[in-house]
This record gives sequence, C-alpha cells and structure tokens, in this order.
Amino acid sequence: MGFGPTPQSNDLMSRGSERYPSVQNFRKILMMMAVVAAAAMLLLATGPAMLPSHAQHSPVNANAANCNCVIIRVDDIQDYWKQKPQIALLDIFINDSASLSVGMVMNHFGSDPVIVNKVKEGGSLFEYGIHGWDHVDYATLSAPQQQETISKAQAKMESVMGRSAKVFLPPYNGFDTNTLIAIKLSGLEIISASKADANPYAPANDTLGIMHMPQSTTYGFTGSDGRSHQWRTIEEMKSAVDADIDARGWAVVTIHPQDFATYDENGKMLDLADRERLDTFKAFMQQLREEGKTLATFERAVQTMNRE
Ligand SMILES: [Zn+2]
Repeated sequence: MGFGPTPQSNDLMSRGSERYPSVQNFRKILMMMAVVAAAAMLLLATGPAMLPSHAQHSPVNANAANCNCVIIRVDDIQDYWKQKPQIALLDIFINDSASLSVGMVMNHFGSDPVIVNKVKEGGSLFEYGIHGWDHVDYATLSAPQQQETISKAQAKMESVMGRSAKVFLPPYNGFDTNTLIAIKLSGLEIISASKADANPYAPANDTLGIMHMPQSTTYGFTGSDGRSHQWRTIEEMKSAVDADIDARGWAVVTIHPQDFATYDENGKMLDLADRERLDTFKAFMQQLREEGKTLATFERAVQTMNRE
C-alpha cells in the first residue's frame, strides 16, 4: 500500500473544519482552552501573514547563530513497502555518518523488522519525526481527530523506538491551527511543512512555542502530467539551499523513498533501488560539506541557533 509521490501536493493551511465535541476530562478541557486561547492570539497576531505566500521570508533572528546547516528530511518511511529503496536511502546516511530527520507514518510503522531495524541502526544520527498516524492531510481532520491520532502516533513512537518525536512532518505538508495545538499537547516542538507556512521561522516561534522550519526544496517531484516522477538537479537544489541559508541560516531538503526507486517503462515504481539517483544525492551531500555546510537534524539546528 504505497503512497504516491507528494512533495508538490497542495499544502494550503486554511482548510479543514474546526469542531470541538465535548471532552469528558475537565482538566483536559481547561488545558485545551488555554491552548486554544493562545492559538487565537497567534491568529490575531499574525493576521494576513497566515495566508499562504511564497514571497515572505522572516529575517534571521539577529541574536541567533547562523547555523549554516542543511536538514535532510525523509517522508513516507513505513513497513512492508518498497523496502529496497527505503533501505538504500537510509544506508546513504548510515554509511556516511550523516544526520537525517526520519518521518514515519506511525499507523504503518513498527512491525516490519527490515525497516524498523534499519531506522534503529541510524542511532543518534537519526532524529525521529511523525509523518502522520495515517497519511492524510491533517487540515481535513477535526481538532479531536488530530489530537487523538497525533497522541497515538507519539505513544507508538515511544514504544517502538524508545524515544519520543520532537518533529511533526505533516503529510502533504497540510496543517492548520488545530494541528499546532495537537502537536503541542503531544510534546512535539517543531513543524516542517512547505513555504505556505508563513509563521515566523525558527529560532523564533509562534505563540504556542512551536518552531516552524519549512522545506526549501525537494529532490523528487510529480511532473506536470500529474503522474510521472521527476528529479531536481544538484544545481537546482543547491540554489534553493543557498537562498534559504542566506535568508534564515538553515535550509531543509525533503526526500522520499520514491526518489530512489527504479521505474519501469510505464512509469510504475519498482521495489528496486536506482543506483544513479542514490549517487546523485550522495554527490549533492558531498558538495554541501565541501562548501562548509553542516548536515543537521532539526533539533540540532535549533540548538546551534540558540547557542548564542
Ligand atoms: Zn508523505
């Protein structure tokens, strides 16, 4: 049960219903009210800035250290699906001792020893991120659905991987204010979506205290025919990375297992790694390092920026 490549999927933030059915637990209601009030202030404070815009850039916090780092984020890691491309891409980072933020679809992660053990093999190089409970656009879920599924995802992360996630990588890059409340309630601190996220960028945070670190670019994307998988060149990725490091001190590149798979003549994805795509991405990582950039996780990038 694979998910199509989605890096270019629409990722507007403002969809989704806002319903609050009754909650039994009084303390939970109080906590929710406090968080909702904070979220309302966030909306008031940011106003039109919440509207998706690709033109907006927050200036780098003058007091923050320039991280000069690139965070590579992989989405769609899951059990029993395109194992060979998944393993081959995770091995790039393990063999190269490079940091990676690993986004797992938690309802479909935890039973396949091939995938789970490979993620565990990354040890402290790998940061764990929640890429949804199911692979759905969170902006289409109600507030209680978001809270319940993100809480379940976090509990499963702790039981399967032995540590909690600090990062939420929303499927389809879709989220709304209820998502921010839900991730806050589950102890997540960072969200990485697309540049439709016009909140202040980390190391600043929103009024809920969540840090926003949207992606700069993606390696693969869906072609204009809406079906074929295509790839950016090293030069295209580097130009997006350089622009964001200039603007905010860090950059995020999103990859998918689909970017490292072989496709047959009809464009069907096979459970077979593509050596050339792997080598191209390794060369990209090598060039970043030769330019003095650090490969980091989201958490380490934030630590670096807050050091001064
Ligand atoms: Zn995804």
